[in-house]
Amino acid sequence: MGATGLRCRECATPYELDASYVCSRCFGPLEVAYDHSGLTDVGALRRRIQGGPQNIWRYADFLPLAGGPPGPSARASSRAALPAGCTPLIRADRLAERLGLGELWVKNDAANPTHSFKDRVVSVAAARARELGFEVLACASTGNLANSVAAHAAALGLESYVFIPADLEEQKVLATGVYGTNLVKIRGTYDDVNRLCTELSGERDWAFVNVNLRPYYAEGSKTIAYEVAEQLGWRTPDRVVAPVASGSLYTKIAKGFAEWLELGLIEGDEPAFHGAQAAGCAPVARAFAEGHDVCRPVRPDTIAKSLAIGTPADGPYALDLARRSGGSIEAVDDDEIRAGIRLLAETTGIFTETAGGVTAATLAKLAQSGAIGADERVVLVITGEGLKTLDAVRDTFETFEIDASFDEFCQRVEPVASGAVA
Ligand SMILES: *Cc1c(COP(=O)(O)O)cnc(C)c1O
Ligand SMILES: [Zn+2]
Repeated sequence: MGATGLRCRECATPYELDASYVCSRCFGPLEVAYDHSGLTDVGALRRRIQGGPQNIWRYADFLPLAGGPPGPSARASSRAALPAGCTPLIRADRLAERLGLGELWVKNDAANPTHSFKDRVVSVAAARARELGFEVLACASTGNLANSVAAHAAALGLESYVFIPADLEEQKVLATGVYGTNLVKIRGTYDDVNRLCTELSGERDWAFVNVNLRPYYAEGSKTIAYEVAEQLGWRTPDRVVAPVASGSLYTKIAKGFAEWLELGLIEGDEPAFHGAQAAGCAPVARAFAEGHDVCRPVRPDTIAKSLAIGTPADGPYALDLARRSGGSIEAVDDDEIRAGIRLLAETTGIFTETAGGVTAATLAKLAQSGAIGADERVVLVITGEGLKTLDAVRDTFETFEIDASFDEFCQRVEPVASGAVA
């Protein structure tokens, strides 16, 4: 594999590719380091990717697994278990027109096995957990991670423990328990859940995908950038709008584009990255607005529960990326989130969860403020499925109820039906 080891993001101390995540010298986070110097034949590399499987393992050269790049039929069963990725990138002309934008694309990551982008990160962490000999998968989750860990454990025949805040949306609880996991509701916020899981990871020999396996988990998000670049014809977009919870997804999408630009695999410049948070949990957006380098912890209060992390681990790196790339980190309130869900649904046919509402509303806000040029190519990253947060759209539209009568239809429905295309 191209991965050569783990490395501290702060002091660059190298570590083995094992289940560790924090630097013992400076307590900085560990990240996977690669040596891609062997990848000089760009044409051959593109062909190998294009000939690979229709899932994230087509990018195995850039992922921290031992097995190397798989053939068209993925060999290793831990990879084939619940394939993620290769989700649609859809040209959204009607949404672009509504917002006064030029070339707009929606990356629909609800189209993953458990209907969120988390299947990318869990696929990588679970495969690495297997290589390292773990028999139990675990996680601290705001909802979607719970779905994905439980499903991957089921597909791989591993035991699993999934920890969630007790007040999670019922749809996410049901869509997790169904896989036969040990589902543990914690009376507290996600940050309380995460604290317990950090303690447990020191006491149990389990693979907590986003704690002790976090360096591997995080790499999975790069595959969104690879796919977008490939789907745009080996080019970068000008701007990317993506949600921010811990900041992992947001910063790793940038890492994905940067790696491929450096190799000459794609054309263009580094995009500007706009992060999206809910106003009820916006530690990164606030630090951005106030010009700080670190985020002050907040206690979340928002309908966007999947983004409700009050102490974002990658907050400082997200701030750095937003400033360095000419992007920003925005916050939108719960009413704007609901409107964002409706806006996306009515103009693209894509029904997203509250996190996607945050992202769509952020795009609308950026468009209104004139931050996006009319000639720019923009990618909106939609990370999860609307059926998991149905309460967010309850009572946001009218319905008709009549007897099965032609006359009643003519009298009570047609005169007030809008008849309009959304
Ligand atoms: C987890 C999640 C995110 C972002 O998570 P990060 O911690 O910032 O990587 C975004 N959208 C959805 C739907 C999620 O579940
Ligand atoms: Zn260090």
